[in-house]
Amino acid sequence: MRVGAVRAGMSVEVTCYDCGDSYALADRKRCECGEPLWIAGDVTAFDPDDGAYGVGRYGDLLPVDPVGVGTGTGGTPLVRTEGLDDVVGCRLHVKDEGENPTGSFKDRGSAVGVAYAHERGANRVGTVSHGNMAMSMSAHAASVGMGCVVLVPARIPPGRLGLIAQYDPDLVQAEGDYGRLYYEALEAGPALGVEFVNSDTPLRVAGQKTVAFEIFEAFGGVPDGVVLPVSSGGHASAVWKGFRELERAGVADRVPPLYFVQAAACDPIAQAYRNGDDEVTPVEPGETIAFSIANGSPPSGNRALAAARRTGGAVLSVPDDEIREATDRMARQAGLCVEPACATPVAGLRHLSADGAVDDEAEVVAIATGTGFKELGGEADVDAATVAVSDLERELGSAL
Ligand SMILES: *Cc1c(COP(=O)(O)O)cnc(C)c1O
Ligand SMILES: [Zn+2]
Repeated sequence: MRVGAVRAGMSVEVTCYDCGDSYALADRKRCECGEPLWIAGDVTAFDPDDGAYGVGRYGDLLPVDPVGVGTGTGGTPLVRTEGLDDVVGCRLHVKDEGENPTGSFKDRGSAVGVAYAHERGANRVGTVSHGNMAMSMSAHAASVGMGCVVLVPARIPPGRLGLIAQYDPDLVQAEGDYGRLYYEALEAGPALGVEFVNSDTPLRVAGQKTVAFEIFEAFGGVPDGVVLPVSSGGHASAVWKGFRELERAGVADRVPPLYFVQAAACDPIAQAYRNGDDEVTPVEPGETIAFSIANGSPPSGNRALAAARRTGGAVLSVPDDEIREATDRMARQAGLCVEPACATPVAGLRHLSADGAVDDEAEVVAIATGTGFKELGGEADVDAATVAVSDLERELGSAL
């Protein structure tokens, strides 16, 4: 059953997880109460379409079918990473979201956001991001010939700008409070004819929830825990929603505990969790190597907090030295190249197992949210020997 029949011209309904109010998607992206909205709908069945790839497999539970590069989004592997079991203290599986078209899970949300705007005949989408989401939206829009407005901060490293610019979006550098830009863009979008698909907007959450469906199918049930990095809280909300829908459809008997991990330098959601607060208080972000998860004022922070608490999970934070070590271990002990933000679950799991929250028999899924290939520069700390080709056997023998 299609939750929002865009093609039939019906309006898509969105609801508030907190107060239960509902609206038409076209009218609002956030609730009157201040909390974020997500797409409603009675989930009564889970019938993946075996004829469609990735996100498109779950078209029945999406407002629209993917188009363009969106048709090649999702369907990422769930890798059993035995080499990391001793490190994390449980049986680890890594959902490798770096395999998406632009190398991160953001492609799932962009696939649905761009397809929705495309079907309604819009000629532009937009987003507020200086990283993976900007690349992702630009690529998906380009693949169907749509324009894409990307609002980036005034001070952005040239390398990042280049990664986004290759898809030729309308890049706009914004001066001033970048945190406010999220809200200002949503406000300005309708008048400008731009569908803004920001970090936790309903269409983005709809696309991103499909990772839960894939984990459920690949794992053959509900794992003992799912661990992921959290920044805006959009992805965390989506994983929560995806497992809730499986439970409502009657195919899953429970929602797994959801564990969210932040970098210690910017951990407003983890702080609220530790303090027993119901609301996240914004923080001034500090410097961290996990730059993709450094949102000091997360728009879905309260929703992520609710997801962790109501599923029996937790929100924790880990310092940069532990994130760096986890990034190295993922490469050296599992063959996975991830950006530092994506190694936070491995770093966080070490604490969870040390505290007894997960045991060594637990089957746990860590979501590696994005590839590390975008980040590799020339300054790696490399240890390599030199040999002559003409005397390879002898030289190689002594070099090894
Ligand atoms: C965006 C992003 C996150 C954080 O997701 P949120 O939905 O903002 O919480 C984590 N990891 C990577 C690689 C990202 O690009
Ligand atoms: Zn509300």
